[in-house]
Amino acid sequence: MSDWFEPGLPFHCTGCGDCCTGAPGFVWLDEADVLRLATKLGLDTAEFTRKHVRMVGGRPSLYERFNGDCEFFMPETRGCGVYEGRPTQCRTYPFWPHLIESPEAWESVRRECEGARVLEPLISAESVRARAAELRRSRVR
Ligand code: SF4
Ligand code: SF4
Repeated sequence: MSDWFEPGLPFHCTGCGDCCTGAPGFVWLDEADVLRLATKLGLDTAEFTRKHVRMVGGRPSLYERFNGDCEFFMPETRGCGVYEGRPTQCRTYPFWPHLIESPEAWESVRRECEGARVLEPLISAESVRARAAELRRSRVR
């Protein structure tokens, strides 16, 4: 298989926190995400769901604050309060299928994410595909 990004894509997360904040959005969850996050917080999945999950069009998503920030975003450090257990959507960004489908789509990532505007390191095409596949799998129900 050959993709337009075969030479690799430059990416290094700077931890700026921009993808966890700002305009309202959705952090979709699958069953594995719920279990991992619940374990991380020392809750059972029912309690985690009651406290942290909203249903949007029948799909579970994390709550966010009034300003659009993810509820787990920590403003003082601009870090993630559940980093080791963060959802698949967060772990695979910015290598989501629709964001790597063309150079134009990747250009939109570069506008939003400073980590995609670096020159190195290059993430191999194989790793990019693996992360996209991981998100795609988590969306199949
Ligand atoms: S916007 Fe990009 S660089 Fe900033 S935290 Fe998110 S992934 Fe990292
Ligand atoms: S769970 Fe963590 S990484 Fe994901 S949007 Fe929230 S703060 Fe950001």
